[in-house]
Amino acid sequence: MVSLGGSLPASQAPLSTPLAAGANAFASAISTYPERATSTRSLSRGQVEAIRSAMRLFVDDDLARGVRQTDRMYCDACQRPRPAAGVIRYGRYSLCNCCATEYEVARAHGGLFTPGQFVRDKHFGEDERYAILD
Ligand SMILES: [Zn+2]
Repeated sequence: MVSLGGSLPASQAPLSTPLAAGANAFASAISTYPERATSTRSLSRGQVEAIRSAMRLFVDDDLARGVRQTDRMYCDACQRPRPAAGVIRYGRYSLCNCCATEYEVARAHGGLFTPGQFVRDKHFGEDERYAILD
């Protein structure tokens, strides 16, 4: 006769106490936040170009869907009427394709959290760090 199963030894029981859950939540909070705050990486020219060409696809896509070259929308970042084709919505912000490209490059760089931060930096003239060097 073969005995199957039985209960798990105590050392293999899943950890499911509230204390363990709380500690895990805290550990994941502190391990993600400082990393995002401090990690920056320099992007190669090829990586920047890849982001640019990906963002241009939004322009092509909008034009293919009937948005006209002459249509304009207000960009929340550069605060000007800009071509509607390629406008990207980030929550409550609409960014022209040019600003959205700057934002995406900055985000890939690291050290930037939100579209709101980008929009504020543009409004307060602190946008030189977003300039994409050719
Ligand atoms: Zn813009």
